[in-house]
Amino acid sequence: MQDYDIIIIGAGPAGCAAARTLARGGWNVGMFDKAHFPREKTCGDALIPDAHLALDKLELRERVEQLSYPTKALRLISFDGSEVSVRGRTAVTPRLKLDVLLLEAAQEVGAKFLPGHDFQSVKDEDGTNYIVEFTVDGGKIEVRAPWVLLATGANAAPIARAGLLERHDPSSFAVRQYVRNPRLAKDFNELVFIFDHTVRGGYGWIFPGPDGVFNIGIGYFGSAEKNSGLRRDYEQFITHQALAKDLMSDGVVVSPLKGAPLRTGLTGTRFAEGGLLATGECVGTTFPLTGEGIGKALETGVLAAETLLAYAAQGRAAVAAAHTASMSALKPKYDAYRKSELLLRWPWLANMLVRRAGRGEYMRNRLEALFNETADPANLFKLKTWVRILLK
Ligand SMILES: Cc1cc2nc3c(=O)[nH]c(=O)nc-3n(C[C@H](O)[C@H](O)[C@H](O)COP(=O)(O)OP(=O)(O)OC[C@H]3O[C@@H](n4cnc5c(N)ncnc54)[C@H](O)[C@@H]3O)c2cc1C
Repeated sequence: MQDYDIIIIGAGPAGCAAARTLARGGWNVGMFDKAHFPREKTCGDALIPDAHLALDKLELRERVEQLSYPTKALRLISFDGSEVSVRGRTAVTPRLKLDVLLLEAAQEVGAKFLPGHDFQSVKDEDGTNYIVEFTVDGGKIEVRAPWVLLATGANAAPIARAGLLERHDPSSFAVRQYVRNPRLAKDFNELVFIFDHTVRGGYGWIFPGPDGVFNIGIGYFGSAEKNSGLRRDYEQFITHQALAKDLMSDGVVVSPLKGAPLRTGLTGTRFAEGGLLATGECVGTTFPLTGEGIGKALETGVLAAETLLAYAAQGRAAVAAAHTASMSALKPKYDAYRKSELLLRWPWLANMLVRRAGRGEYMRNRLEALFNETADPANLFKLKTWVRILLK
């Protein structure tokens, strides 16, 4: 049986960030994924400021920039057509390429990657090691390590198999498609988020990617109250919303519409059980309200790895406690985002916020601080803030 210092299950942004950090720390890392790379991951492909910070930490920002379409801001378009641009370090990087880059960055520092391995079960061998079972090409294999990190994303099945699942249903669903439109791509340098009546309770996006190819989609990123009828709503969105209609008018569709679940809000999965830890979207690290999760998957992958590097010598209980504490410390931020989902349900509130931010510095600065994570998101929901918005 093959032995490692750690078995990482899932080679998305969370798994790769953890693998690179641990391999750099001298650990013998075995990273397993059911997919063969390059593989598609249904996503909007947008990197927001938190992703750039995490890429800086991983020393990968410049490499990622070479694959990316740079954008300079996020533009919010509200239900009534009012708009505001919020500055922040942003880019669009197709996941097909980003995830290969992240994987190679883990491998180049020594992590071993084993594709085509579908995780089945994990059991505690003797209080010191875990035995993890995968199916490969119809057969079964077992591998052993003292530590296991689950980073399998939004699907409930592997989380349940690891015994960490607390809530089966995902938080939400989203769909996206790629559309080439060189005409519109000229001078299009913002991530556009659109609050629209065709996607009430969620939002639509239009993100410009490399080679004049846009990523366009819609999603209900909140509390999963509206997960059916996404395709129908998407059709409504592209036939009624002005910018989406313009993109589609002479755009060439280059991929089918694809959907995927999301787990948001840092809920629904236990962070740790002894030496078995979980990180990334499988513990719900994707933000409510926005559905952005690449940055937080990278960040929490690094966090989990740093916890292991710092506490492994003290044993399982110390690692589990430290990991749970570091993830729980992020919770207030997620709770504030959850509250802000009101914006998606109350168009008048979103309209007022966007109009005020478009007109004046005070509100725009607040949004910018929120987007760039330089201010506590809870501040946006203080009574004092809303009184100022109403009076200005
Ligand atoms: C339509 C849509 C649009 C989105 N848009 C954006 C956006 O624009 N920007 C943004 O930041 N976020 C976006 N997100 C969220 C983002 O995709 C996730 O937050 C991010 O991918 C989470 O990274 P992760 O590493 O935790 O999981 P993943 O990226 O899902 O990686 C998990 C890995 O685990 C592997 N795996 C799963 N099951 C098994 C198993 N049984 N055995 C072995 N391996 C397994 C998978 O093959 C995969 O490689 C979007 C999500 C959706 C659905």
